[in-house]
Amino acid sequence: MLDILKEKWPEILNFLKQEYDIADVSFKTWILPLKVQSFNNNVVTLIFPGESGKTGLQYINKKYLSFLKDSISLTLETEIELKIILPEETDTDIEDSSFVSSINNKDISLDQRILDSNLNKKYTFDSFVVGANNNIAQVTSLAVAESPGEVYNPLFIYGGVGLGKTHLIQSIGNFVLKENTSSKVLYTTSESFTNEVIDLLGTKKTVQEDIIEFRKKYRNVDVLLIDDIQFISDRDRTQEELFNIFNELFMKHKQIVITSDKKPKDMEGIAERLISRFEQGLTVDIQNPDYETRMAILKKKAQSTESDVDESVLQYIANNFVSNVRELEGSLTRVITFSKISHSPITVDFASSVLKELISPNQEDKITCDYIINIVAEHFQISSSDICSKKKSKEFAYPRQICMYLCRVFTDEKLETIAMVLKKTNHATVSYGYEKIKKEIETDSSTRALIDVLKKKINPN
Ligand code: ADP
Ligand code: MG
Repeated sequence: MLDILKEKWPEILNFLKQEYDIADVSFKTWILPLKVQSFNNNVVTLIFPGESGKTGLQYINKKYLSFLKDSISLTLETEIELKIILPEETDTDIEDSSFVSSINNKDISLDQRILDSNLNKKYTFDSFVVGANNNIAQVTSLAVAESPGEVYNPLFIYGGVGLGKTHLIQSIGNFVLKENTSSKVLYTTSESFTNEVIDLLGTKKTVQEDIIEFRKKYRNVDVLLIDDIQFISDRDRTQEELFNIFNELFMKHKQIVITSDKKPKDMEGIAERLISRFEQGLTVDIQNPDYETRMAILKKKAQSTESDVDESVLQYIANNFVSNVRELEGSLTRVITFSKISHSPITVDFASSVLKELISPNQEDKITCDYIINIVAEHFQISSSDICSKKKSKEFAYPRQICMYLCRVFTDEKLETIAMVLKKTNHATVSYGYEKIKKEIETDSSTRALIDVLKKKINPN
């Protein structure tokens, strides 16, 4: 048993880090130092050799025990009990992780370089699913990774939350490190860059050497990756440092990659000269994934966890999580984990009960027309102001009629009120929309399925 556990330990750690999205520094501090001590009668004992002694032990027990226990149980596919102890609580010698020695030197140094670059090795091009929404961003990122400083400089990637910007920008870094053993890559978020500048320049005591050191760190790289650049907004001093670093790297043909939640010209609080630098290379966007891409992401995720999840369950999740890949993947993980722990088969009903709160967190609240409109808008990936408008194209008219129907079903509002919310002058329009959808539900199975999904989103109970 102990051998199997040791053999699977790297896989367990990998699983833990990915599933619970543990920050690098936390992972390094709390998880990596753990050593496997024993595995008897389904009780796994780990040793936490941290300097922080009892305080550290208490903390790790509180924060990570259940994550670790689940990761071990799920990877070994058997329910275990977990104990974490300090070295002084055992009299047998701690076996120094012999399994680590099976990793060869080359890997260790790559791992070390990845850590030194601030990268997370799980973000690779291989694990990135390409769809119509991110195709251009992926292709240009790969081109940049293959020929840093030569093709698009800077590469500027923008898009909404949870759509894969961090994944892509880190894939570039990981790729470069793997392909070029001598390349220097540095990943930073603009938030931590800003904090460095504040620490450095904010105190009177700052020594000139510290500033030189800081600049050297950023100016001596081959590839500089800055994630979430929007946080430097209104930070003049940070912007100035960045501007100088940018120019120097650019002149030396070093690659710069930037991500942001908006395209450069829509960013506020950023100096014009920086914006024009950002626009100097290539700007690409990532959109919400379409249904096919969502399914592909879910399938890949299911495969990677070696879980056999029925297509209908994946469809259910893909239909309910449309605008954030993190939530999409998180939902599948949640369903798989809960099914393993509760030994329940994964059915659509099971998934819907496990995901209930995520799909509709406001279930306690009274259901209002606005609430319904928001849910319908999100589902169709349009804005609620387009639903509540006079725009006549089918793209908006159909979701609007769906809202008319659902508002009638879920609320006690008068037709006049629903008309007003939807910016319709005549309440007969609402009546018409309601009847039309009602009829469609009877005659058309796809409308019926759509309404079912929306009803569950609105009120999962
Ligand atoms: P962002 O930085 O844009 O907010 P992330 O890069 O952190 O988003 O992505 C959120 C999660 O979704 C990550 O776990 C990431 O691996 C995953 N993800 C996003 N897009 C894809 C994709 N196209 N293929 C596979 N995983 C993806
Ligand atoms: Mg990100």
